[in-house]
Amino acid sequence: MAVLYRKYRPQTFGQVVGQKNIVKTLQNQISQGKVAHAYLFTGGRGVGKTSIARILAKALNCKKNVNVNELPGGSVEDACGECEVCKAVEAGNFIDLIEVDAASNTGVDNVREIIEHIKFAPSVGKYKVFIIDEVHMLSKGAFNALLKTLEEPPRHVVFVLATTEIHKVPSTIISRTQKFDFKALSAEELKQNLKNIAQKESLAYAEEIFDLVCQNAGGSVRDSLSILDKISTLGGEAEISDVRALLGVTDSALLSELLILIAEGRSAELPEFFDKLLEMGTDFEIFNKDFLEFARKLLVSKLIKEEFLESKFAELEVNDLIFIIRLFLKSFKDIQISPSPDIPLLLASIEASMKKAAPVSHPPVVAKEIRKEQETAKVVEPEAQLEVRSPQLSVIDSSGSESLTVDEVLVFWPDVLEKIREINGPLGSMLKIATLSGAENGRIAIQVKYLFDQKTIEKNSNLILKTIKEVSGKNLGISAKLYAAKHEDSPALSINDALQVFGGEVIE
Ligand SMILES: [Zn+2]
Repeated sequence: MAVLYRKYRPQTFGQVVGQKNIVKTLQNQISQGKVAHAYLFTGGRGVGKTSIARILAKALNCKKNVNVNELPGGSVEDACGECEVCKAVEAGNFIDLIEVDAASNTGVDNVREIIEHIKFAPSVGKYKVFIIDEVHMLSKGAFNALLKTLEEPPRHVVFVLATTEIHKVPSTIISRTQKFDFKALSAEELKQNLKNIAQKESLAYAEEIFDLVCQNAGGSVRDSLSILDKISTLGGEAEISDVRALLGVTDSALLSELLILIAEGRSAELPEFFDKLLEMGTDFEIFNKDFLEFARKLLVSKLIKEEFLESKFAELEVNDLIFIIRLFLKSFKDIQISPSPDIPLLLASIEASMKKAAPVSHPPVVAKEIRKEQETAKVVEPEAQLEVRSPQLSVIDSSGSESLTVDEVLVFWPDVLEKIREINGPLGSMLKIATLSGAENGRIAIQVKYLFDQKTIEKNSNLILKTIKEVSGKNLGISAKLYAAKHEDSPALSINDALQVFGGEVIE
């Protein structure tokens, strides 16, 4: 249903959307009479390869150009779009333009036929132009026949080979062509083009509809216009919600709602949220994919510290988002084997929300709490070996452990965290969220909520121990303990609660 795409196919270089450098180069070559014998156009589908190849055929043979080019110093580098040649190319019946779709004609015979054509001089125009689309589909024999022709091309012939899969084109062919890499179009280029066409078609759509089309077009003019075709079936004044439904695109408000539930640790509300999605007839595979994209965008903007971040996600740290994305990558895979497609997503959401339910911030100094945790902590043998692991406790000792009190640790701990954060942001953030529960036998005891965090500490033990040594001047070990499930609520004192109870001060 590429109605609009066919209707608005560019007919001159001036009408081409994007690909400015390629167009400019070709125009220069035409005006200077330095046209190559063989071009190779590579790039994704619907980015203008065939359109530009046809315009090149026109411009090389355009009656206006032929006349002007014969005048000394005079040149026109675009097709006029009006002469008999331009009209014939547009109508698909220009005798000196031979188009082959290699996807449907892969035989060696077809290339032989082309070579037969090559012997004859152009009938009407100045050049015979051969466009071989999806050239990577040619058989080996056909490539060899083509190669022979490319080695000794007649003067009046121009080849344009086009492909979406350059890696399947033999290097011997590539080396005999001038290669142009067509780029995916930017959202801005697509949007401008869509808006122009919509205006001509009397389709008055809101800005956000055009944005949505561009997001789903994958940089392809053809795809953007076939989406617009689809939308136009809704009439001239479509609503964004109808367009989303039509395209099977998830309402971003739902994605945002899910992330808020996760970020605020509201796991109890998740089943109801998923019931709502079920009632709406949601395609969970699409929802999962869109949620991943949503989280990915947020992660990227966090990493580059974009200012316009929505404040409702301000509490989500980079490592939270990485954790969430990992969970939803897994659920995406699990959907395929799940008897009911919502289950993997619900599980991923609950797991993610429970991680966020872990205390977000603690006062680094809460003496009473530390003592309480020490009472319930598993006893660590002083002679514990390096990296002794148990499901509950991970112990990393530095050689020659020294003894010191909790208060002594707390003097330098914030500096340790800061320094680690500079080197490994996610690790630093995770350690800051973790509870410092004590210091015993020369070992700093930390409590974390997830095995994942515990493993991260183990994996980064060298950095942690080295930083502790640098900051404190002491050889200290570290132990990372998982909160027992029953303790889930116990460390969740807010900073303010703790300050009130213990009269401490926040060390940032
Ligand atoms: Zn013309």
